[in-house]
Amino acid sequence: MIKKDVIIVGGGAAGFFAAINIAEQNPDLKVAILERAKAGLAKVKVSGGGRCNVTHAEFTPSELVQNYPRGEKELLGPFHQFMTGDTIAWFEERGVELKIEDDGRMFPVSNSSQTIIDCFLSEAEKHQVDVFYNYAVKSIENQDDEFHIETSEGSFSSNKILIATGSNPKIWKLLENLGHTVSQPVPSLFTFNIKDERIQDIPGVVASHVEVKVLGTDLWSEGPLLITHWGMSAPSILKLSAFGALELAKRDYKFQIEINFIKQSFEDCLEVLKALKKELAKKTVFKSTQFDLPKRLWHKLVLASNMVEETRWADLNKAQLEALASQLTKAIFNVEGKSTFKEEFVTAGGVNLKEINFKTFESKRIKNLYFAGEVLNIDAITGGFNFQNAWTGAFIAARDIAKSF
Ligand SMILES: Cc1cc2nc3c(=O)[nH]c(=O)nc-3n(C[C@H](O)[C@H](O)[C@H](O)COP(=O)(O)OP(=O)(O)OC[C@H]3O[C@@H](n4cnc5c(N)ncnc54)[C@H](O)[C@@H]3O)c2cc1C
Repeated sequence: MIKKDVIIVGGGAAGFFAAINIAEQNPDLKVAILERAKAGLAKVKVSGGGRCNVTHAEFTPSELVQNYPRGEKELLGPFHQFMTGDTIAWFEERGVELKIEDDGRMFPVSNSSQTIIDCFLSEAEKHQVDVFYNYAVKSIENQDDEFHIETSEGSFSSNKILIATGSNPKIWKLLENLGHTVSQPVPSLFTFNIKDERIQDIPGVVASHVEVKVLGTDLWSEGPLLITHWGMSAPSILKLSAFGALELAKRDYKFQIEINFIKQSFEDCLEVLKALKKELAKKTVFKSTQFDLPKRLWHKLVLASNMVEETRWADLNKAQLEALASQLTKAIFNVEGKSTFKEEFVTAGGVNLKEINFKTFESKRIKNLYFAGEVLNIDAITGGFNFQNAWTGAFIAARDIAKSF
């Protein structure tokens, strides 16, 4: 039996961040990470397309929390303790400079996730964190104020334990046996599969500002929309997939969406089209793209409005004008499934947030048991927010653990 003061289960983003901060803040403590894989930080390695989108340049807690479909209310307090600015400073103090891209995402200046991994590994070594690779945790028992942990390679005991196992269903089961409740996992952050003539053969086309509604629900979003080989993607869709993760799972990913491609009302759009009918009378509708739409998308929407390529503005009847206004402002598409977004799968679900004290990230049910990262029922839209949750929870838990001995 190996005895440690603190054991971190899981050597991923949250696990390393917590272990380093505990060991740095209280150098007397013996801190160990138990990681089931032969190396840690696997998701950090592949994150952000290999560049690691570490955080997001959003510095107001009340704005930042709006990116978390699950965790919005609970993270407000923690973000006042440790958030994006602190993340930037933390990495900078350890020699890793971050840069901001136009859309607010932040990456290491090196453009390589290896920079983050190297930083964590050298900090862990510097602060004498013991990392046990190939040690899969199989059971955790809490007896006489001590935790007994069985792994695939041997037993450990510790006074405090932090669970940072991401979305591993086996650990959730184990936590249920310890008395926690867990919201069942469903995927979040996915793109929509749509087969429709209006988007066929135009992958890569972007409508820069659309509104999308999921019919029969309150789900609504806006932002850029990308047409892909298999359907639709980009922030307007990804936001819906995250905020609607539970609702859309219930519908088995089969539902209808209504898209307003030009963010104008049907009536206003119809007025504009009527004016264009006079103004551009002799021109073909097909060739006179309007509303700053990409040409190829305009072509598709025109052809879906009972017109042919040769139809001239002057010849448009009421039904055709209305059909085009409908396609532009309330086009309905059938979604028939989902696809993974750039392999960035995130899971909605995890340990029930009501059971956590968000001042410390300690369990309200079991003393000296802490959580950080995706093991909790917290997840975010794409953009660096999922890692920010991991850093924030890990830092606050670490601070509490370090000072409690
Ligand atoms: C391809 C991809 C790209 C992503 N890109 C980004 C991005 O750029 N920015 C962003 O903010 N988010 C991104 N995410 C999401 C982000 O990676 C996660 O939110 C984050 O890694 C969660 O951190 P974590 O420490 O909670 O879990 P993880 O990083 O998943 O770490 C959990 C660790 O626990 C270990 N473990 C699990 N069970 C056991 C066990 N029984 N015993 C011992 N060890 C165990 C696992 O092996 C793993 O190492 C991406 C996700 C994916 C899949």
